[in-house]
Amino acid sequence: MFFHYTQVSATSYPEVNNIQQEEPKVKNVIMMLGDGMGVGQLEIARLLEHGKEGSLFIETLPHVALMRTYSNNNFVTDSAAGGTGIATSVKTNNGMIGVKPNGKEVKSILDAFQHAGKKVGIISNNTVTDATPASFTGSTTDRWNGQEKIAREMLKNKYDVILGGGSIYFSPEKQKGIDLISKFKEEGYAFVHDKTSLKKVKNPERLLGLFHPTYMNYKLDYEQKKSNEPSLIEMTETALNVLSTNEKGFFLMVEGARIDHAAHAADATGVWKETIEFDNTVKATVNWAKKRDDTLVIVLADHETMGMAASEPMDIEGLKKIKASSEFIAHKLKIDKNTGNYPADNMKKILKQYAHIDISDDEVEQFNENVKRSSQVGIYPQYAVTWEIGSLIAAHYNVGVMSRDVRAKSNTTSGHSGNMVPIFAYGPSADRFDGVLDNTDISKMIGEISGVPFIKR
Ligand SMILES: [Zn+2]
Repeated sequence: MFFHYTQVSATSYPEVNNIQQEEPKVKNVIMMLGDGMGVGQLEIARLLEHGKEGSLFIETLPHVALMRTYSNNNFVTDSAAGGTGIATSVKTNNGMIGVKPNGKEVKSILDAFQHAGKKVGIISNNTVTDATPASFTGSTTDRWNGQEKIAREMLKNKYDVILGGGSIYFSPEKQKGIDLISKFKEEGYAFVHDKTSLKKVKNPERLLGLFHPTYMNYKLDYEQKKSNEPSLIEMTETALNVLSTNEKGFFLMVEGARIDHAAHAADATGVWKETIEFDNTVKATVNWAKKRDDTLVIVLADHETMGMAASEPMDIEGLKKIKASSEFIAHKLKIDKNTGNYPADNMKKILKQYAHIDISDDEVEQFNENVKRSSQVGIYPQYAVTWEIGSLIAAHYNVGVMSRDVRAKSNTTSGHSGNMVPIFAYGPSADRFDGVLDNTDISKMIGEISGVPFIKR
């Protein structure tokens, strides 16, 4: 988001040093956001990883609250309005990022921290320009056509650390012939593109890391794809090194984005792996914060996806044996170019090989019909095959999850739910995260707790 200093009056925007008499205890804030991570996703991850008596690390954090997520124009939010509510304390419409429903740009808590002289960064295994990270760093009235603009705003505002996927939005083909990455380098950014180059980077002043043209790989597919992408933990640890060099402190947002993507596909195995990756990152981050007394860690979600639940008949052992994401399996399927159908023999073979299920001719027929229908409706036609495959596998393993029909009828979210999501907090003032909160409470509270004036509009 841009700063428009002229819009801000002296009364509504007090000087940083006058806002509090005492030195604030919270110098650094790390917000960790599991996209689509409701209690059902946490429960599935807990059961598959640790068994019914085990525990995720997240569950050991000392303070817990629940959060409502609804948007301005819907009782079910998408990631754009959900991220905007959290990042800016403003309710906006689904599809909008960093703006009020009337399209007027608003500022985020990250902007407030930067204005207070602190370092700021964002990490996501989604594209760094998609809804959640963009809610902290940019603004657009149309998330479907705004990622190029968000990338340019990131350059203009010189955010200190940007790590994740989405290099395509920085490329000349998307930026009218301009190579945005070289512009970042001209501004003094170190640029890294894989795990190896990320490891080599030595405390640069500013850091841009783009590890995939679009989304970073699912954890579940790392082996099959021989991925040389850094993990969420590796990105986070590097970011903490860069950001913590600043005496005044920092704000970092870390997104585990692909929990949501796996959940959209009803892919419980994918949800498990992505949530554990996120949980491990929370653990590494809280352990980092434990060595000091000035860092607040907030773990939350922007909304829940697909009403996922640990159902009684869910085949936990079967789900654990699946070795690829629904996306990976979908890409392995052959299509008959003449009919546009997925032939039964190939489909049966692929689903047996990767998901260990036997499907019937009726299921193949139904699948082909579903794919044709869902390619024509909904907001993500490009994911029709992945999602239909995921729902087919989920049915065989009795995963508790929203039906494919309800997903198809979810016109602005493709299967999000309005369920409250959990918040966990560690560090000074973590006890403020208590009871039932609204997503618009979060950044206001962070501003108060850390003595950083949240910029009023
Ligand atoms: Zn989603």
